[in-house]
Amino acid sequence: MGIPAQPLSDSGIQLLAQKVIKDSGFSKPPICEKRVAQILGIMIKEFVVPTKKRKPPLLRYLSQSCSYLRLQKGKPCIFVWKEMSRGRVRLSVFHECAHFIIPWHKQFNYLAPQQIPPFFLSRLEDEAFRLAEELIAPREMVWKDLQSKDPDFATIEWLRHRYQMSRAVALHRFVRFFPGAVASFVLVPLPTNNSLITQEIKTSPFFPYFIRPKMLIKPAHPLYQLYYRQSIVPEEVEGRTLGVSGPSQSYLVQIFPHFPGQKAQVLLWSQPSRIKPQTLLPVV
Ligand SMILES: [Zn+2]
Repeated sequence: MGIPAQPLSDSGIQLLAQKVIKDSGFSKPPICEKRVAQILGIMIKEFVVPTKKRKPPLLRYLSQSCSYLRLQKGKPCIFVWKEMSRGRVRLSVFHECAHFIIPWHKQFNYLAPQQIPPFFLSRLEDEAFRLAEELIAPREMVWKDLQSKDPDFATIEWLRHRYQMSRAVALHRFVRFFPGAVASFVLVPLPTNNSLITQEIKTSPFFPYFIRPKMLIKPAHPLYQLYYRQSIVPEEVEGRTLGVSGPSQSYLVQIFPHFPGQKAQVLLWSQPSRIKPQTLLPVV
């Protein structure tokens, strides 16, 4: 099979996930990764990376990659590193299942990534992660769940437990599918400088404009004051003073509990105007 000219669209990813989830018999979360693998005819085996300095080449590769998919006696098998958190094991298993499900991925030898042109390798990995997230937390389920929820950390934690995913995936799905304007980012204190820097910015499709990545937050900035005040209650801040462009509007800002001098996750949202995402397909 050739390589398609375009990466899989969101709808394409959603359709692949919907079919597998339906075939596995799930209509609500959590979606069990073992059941999905079983339906696909894939075995799962856990492995432990030995601490020996001289590792065989395969284990050297595994100590960096956490999981892999290969044929064992002609049957597909996912090997997954035993010592990861539950959320990461699930993401890894679904990621490998995704390589198995996406038709054009089957032609590659994942154990020899150096043989895959870098451009295709990053596309391959990106598609597998997108489908893995869709299998863990299908967008139509997340979207429905979020209809009655507030955009705060309690909702992200609730989502994390309900779908049995890592906090990072929960945050990603939340920002993507909250039916209103919401954004998240991390504030990182700079040791040499009396300031913070913005990183890992994620915005919902309805967030009009947003703070640039790597923006320097100085002491006069409202985010700097919120970070050091360590309040965990949402506070209202005027958009222009935050660096958000567009019409004047105020935003609610909530900062995750953090230790001073360490990075802190931030949520930012405008008063919700709940809109249905255009990428959402009906459940088949
Ligand atoms: Zn992969």
